Amino acid sequence: MISSGGFTIYMFKKLILTAGVGILLFNGQTASASSLTPNDLVNTKQSIRTATKQKHEVKQSIQAIKTKLKQLDRQEKAIQTKINGTSEQLESFDEQLKPEETSLFAKVVSSVFPSAKAEAAEAEEERNELMKKKEEASKALNELEDKQQSIAKKREKYKTAYTQKNKQYKKQSNYLSELKKQYQSMVPDRFLMPATGRLSQGFGAAGGENGYTFHNGLDIAAKTGTPIYAAADGKVTQVSSSGPYGKHMKIEHTIDGQKWTTVYAHMNRIDVKKGQTVLQGEQIGQIGTTGNSTGPHLHFEVHKGNYSFSATSAGHAINPMKVAERVGGASPVKQTL
Ligand SMILES: [Zn+2]
Repeated sequence: MISSGGFTIYMFKKLILTAGVGILLFNGQTASASSLTPNDLVNTKQSIRTATKQKHEVKQSIQAIKTKLKQLDRQEKAIQTKINGTSEQLESFDEQLKPEETSLFAKVVSSVFPSAKAEAAEAEEERNELMKKKEEASKALNELEDKQQSIAKKREKYKTAYTQKNKQYKKQSNYLSELKKQYQSMVPDRFLMPATGRLSQGFGAAGGENGYTFHNGLDIAAKTGTPIYAAADGKVTQVSSSGPYGKHMKIEHTIDGQKWTTVYAHMNRIDVKKGQTVLQGEQIGQIGTTGNSTGPHLHFEVHKGNYSFSATSAGHAINPMKVAERVGGASPVKQTL
């Protein structure tokens, strides 16, 4: 990878392509590529998580509104059926009450022929009964129509909410994809250079004076207390305070289906626990000089697959300079030759 002004050309190109001159950070601030910090990676990743959760919640409330609308549809249908039935009843009552003339005629007849009087009284009673039934049906119809109106109002309310939530969902989706795009432009392809300092020993053949003929990692020298960041998202698989590595730890990563292990040694302080998941750029401890060390530095190893140490060959260790990229200020400065 070609280096240029504290940032690899490759990363710089990626940034130019996605964001023009500067990078719009998750919080709306604009940062130049060189001012990016590992913490920006962590914050953006966390914003992505929150935004994803919120998007999911909006989707759930949309589903709930849909269910409610379906329920209201069913209620509306049931009421319409009742309204139709009651209206038909009312019509039939009207039909039966129509022959008013007959009733008048019966009255006249009954005044002349007493025998018809009883018949007329019976007709009158029947008529009254019908009138009462008609009144009841009419009242029921009014109540049903009121109910229908209140359902319609409710439905309007839910429809408005549905439109609003859908808009919110679209907005949330756009925001999330913007964040993801942003994150993609910020993150190193595989690993982040875990500390800022002077590259005091590179990866490769060594003299053997320290007990090894192959140095399977990088030494990044910096003063004690300098932060060390997780090289990639992963899970802390080991935390230890003893041995030649002094205070050291391992993180297991899965990147595009490939398992990797990173090792951080001679630490002054370890800020994480075994089993803990960490985000790329998250501070995991500090540079120190514990174990077999002559001065404060981070010994950093990258292994494809599991950790496998060899004092004489690379084993599964990969030169971190080939897979770890700088982000803003987090980088080892190459030793001047
Ligand atoms: Zn070393």
